[in-house]
Amino acid sequence: MAFEGLSDKLSAAFKRLRAKGKLSESDIKEAMREVRLALLEADVSYKVAKDFVAQVSEKAIGAQVLESLTPAQQVIKIVNEELTALMGVSEVRLKSPKRPPAVVMMCGLQGAGKTTHSAKLANMLKKQGHRPLLVACDIYRPAAIEQLKVVGAKANTPVFEMGTASPVQIAKKALAHARDYGNDYVILDTAGRLHIDEQLMGELKDIKSTVEPSDILLVVDSMTGQDAVNVAKSFDDALGIDGVILTKLDGDTRGGAALSVRAVTGKPIKFVGMGEKLDDLEPFYPDRMASRILGMGDVLTLIEKAQTEVSQKDAEKMAEKLKKNSFDLNDLLDQMKQVKNMGSLQQVLSMLPGGNQISPDDIDERRLARIEAIIHSMTAKEREKPAIINPSRKRRIAAGSGTTVQDVNMLLRQFEQMQKLVKQFSHAPKHGKGRFGGM
Ligand code: GDP
Repeated sequence: MAFEGLSDKLSAAFKRLRAKGKLSESDIKEAMREVRLALLEADVSYKVAKDFVAQVSEKAIGAQVLESLTPAQQVIKIVNEELTALMGVSEVRLKSPKRPPAVVMMCGLQGAGKTTHSAKLANMLKKQGHRPLLVACDIYRPAAIEQLKVVGAKANTPVFEMGTASPVQIAKKALAHARDYGNDYVILDTAGRLHIDEQLMGELKDIKSTVEPSDILLVVDSMTGQDAVNVAKSFDDALGIDGVILTKLDGDTRGGAALSVRAVTGKPIKFVGMGEKLDDLEPFYPDRMASRILGMGDVLTLIEKAQTEVSQKDAEKMAEKLKKNSFDLNDLLDQMKQVKNMGSLQQVLSMLPGGNQISPDDIDERRLARIEAIIHSMTAKEREKPAIINPSRKRRIAAGSGTTVQDVNMLLRQFEQMQKLVKQFSHAPKHGKGRFGGM
């Protein structure tokens, strides 16, 4: 995951501070040196790292911090606040023009993730009840239109294309089309290049002046670190951008781009790409990102993910089952699928406080796959009433799922324990419905 190195180094520095109890000015200076190094190693630009540390030091060396009962805690709090401020304080949403459709112009270098993120954005808007239209303005790469159609179909969003007509004309016609068909968002997937060039900028400027986008979003690849920030600066100087979509934050990027973009360009990161799938798009919340970097987790995003994956109806159905104590292995399978839909187990864990301390080796996704295989090998009756699973049935299930009888026994035992727990809960006083709903 992104920020792993930075998180580790910062927590090591803070651990040393905590161990000291009372802090002197030189303790803080030493810690700030470590913070600065950690930022530089995460590929944060030199000036940004220097300014950041100066800012934190100024606040931390104040008498209030040094004389407080928990000085280390105060320093961490200041770092948290300053990290949040560095990334822009609060979330910045897409603009909504007075008269729809809103035109979102996606631009960026080739391979940054423009086409993928055009579709992810369409998918997100659709889930919010909008009617987006995707527009193929990349006429140079023959496969680009086809690629947009494929991802558009996955996002259940229509794609407007006019083959290799001029991109300015395509954008103009697409806007008219959207007005006719009631699309409230028009997402333009423009052409990319390997490097910034005059011709590309000229074309983007022409599109901009013709359709007056409400948002020009620059898509940049976080894996390219400082380069991503330089690209953002160049695009902003030449074209003027409204915000950035930072992609591939799921990879082992060091995270510097996320921390520097705002400070260098003055433009907010509006969304981050967290994977190749359509649902792997998150609005960018500076405070939550700061918490993730400091290993404090991001429980709010996790809850939101759970809420979009689990409908109210499903949650109520589950609450009802729990109340009647009729939770069976089918339900367990459903719950496992829902958690999986939220992302890989590692992704989910990384959002929990301290979750970034768990190494991928500790997470046994294969065990979960084995549990699923075992349940899949059971008949409908067996799933509803695991008590009927006798030794010969166990052998059949083990053979069918490629596991052993011990594995089957273990699952049945764990399920039995779970049922006991559920029983306790279902007899406990009510604390609002859907307690187990999402997870
Ligand atoms: P474009 O040239 O800017 O349109 O880039 P594409 O949308 O074709 O993306 C380039 C590659 O990056 C594709 O293989 C995508 O699947 C991949 N990609 C895009 N966004 C992400 C992301 O957030 N995470 C990961 N892991 N891969 C991504």
